[in-house]
Amino acid sequence: RSIIRQLNSLITSDYVILHATEPVTQSPVWRALNPAQHDQTLFEERHLRYISPLGKGNFGSVELCRYDPLGDNTGELVAVKKLQPNKQSTLEDFQKEVNTLSVLHCDYIVKYRGVCYSMGRLSMSLVMEYLPHGSLIGYLENNRHNVNTRRMLLFASQICKGMEYLQTLRYIHRDLAARNILVASESLVKIADFGLTKIIPFDKEYYRVTQPGESPIFWYAPESINDSKFSHKSDVWSFGIVLHELFSYCDMVSNPKRVRIMYKFTYFFLPLYFPGGGGLKVSMEKTLKPLLELLK
Ligand code: ADP
Ligand code: MG
Repeated sequence: RSIIRQLNSLITSDYVILHATEPVTQSPVWRALNPAQHDQTLFEERHLRYISPLGKGNFGSVELCRYDPLGDNTGELVAVKKLQPNKQSTLEDFQKEVNTLSVLHCDYIVKYRGVCYSMGRLSMSLVMEYLPHGSLIGYLENNRHNVNTRRMLLFASQICKGMEYLQTLRYIHRDLAARNILVASESLVKIADFGLTKIIPFDKEYYRVTQPGESPIFWYAPESINDSKFSHKSDVWSFGIVLHELFSYCDMVSNPKRVRIMYKFTYFFLPLYFPGGGGLKVSMEKTLKPLLELLK
C-alpha cells in the first residue's frame, strides 16, 4: 500500500512538473545556462548576419544586420553600431552612449534594442532599430521633390519634441545635426547618435567639456567654441543650424562647414536663441511653440 501511495505521489509531482504554468525556458537553471536567450537586450554575435554598411560618422560605423537565431532569414533587421578602430572615442565613452540610449523612450528618438558582445567581451556593439531611409541628409538629397515646407516644419517640430524630452531628463545632445537625424518614414524623423551626449550636473545649468576630441564646431554655439560650455541653450543653437540644413535640403553648397557663414547664422538664429531678448529662458519648449503655430 505504501508503495502504491509513493507511486501516486510521484505521478502527481510529475504531473505538476509536466503541466507547470511556467515554461521550461523560464526556469532559473535554464536562464543560468542560456543568459542570451533570457535577456532580450543581449544579442548573440553568432546570430547577427551582416548585410550592408549604413553609415560612418566621426567615431562609429553602423551596419545593417539581420538577427537570425533560427538561421532561416526570418529574423528581424537591426542597425548595429561599432566603434571605429583608432578613434579618440574610447570603449568607456561608447558604453556611456549605450547606457544613454537604453534609458531614452520617446517616439522621436531612435529605439535602443540592446548590445552584442564579441567573443571574450573584448568589444561591444550597440543594436538599434533599423530606419530604412537613413539620415536626413541622404533622404533630402533623394526626396527633394516630395518634401514641401509643411513636411519640413513637421520634421522640425518632431526634432524639437525629441529634444524637449531630452531636456526634461537634463541631457544635452551636443551633436545635433542633420547627419544625426534619421528618417523613419516620410512623416517621421528621429534623433540619433548620443555619442557626445552629457548630463548636466544638478547644481549647474551647463556642462563644461574638458576632454579633447573632434568637435562639430560649425554646429556649436559661441560659448561652446569659446568656453567649452554646453547647455540646453547650446543645443537650441545647434537646432537652429539643423533648421538651416533642413530648409536648404542639406545641399552641399549650403553646408555649414563648407560655407563657413557662422556670422550670418548668428543673425539668423538670434531670435531663436534669445526669445524675449533675455536669453535665459531658452528651451526647446519655447522653440517648439512657433513651429506648431506654423503647422496649424
Ligand atoms: P557616429 O557616432 O560615428 O557619427 P552615427 O550614430 O551618427 O555614428 O551613425 C552614422 C550614420 O549611420 C548615420 O549618419 C546614419 O546615416 C547611419 N545610421 C545610424 N543609425 C542608423 C539606424 N538606426 N538606421 C539606419 N541608419 C543609421
Ligand atoms: Mg553621427
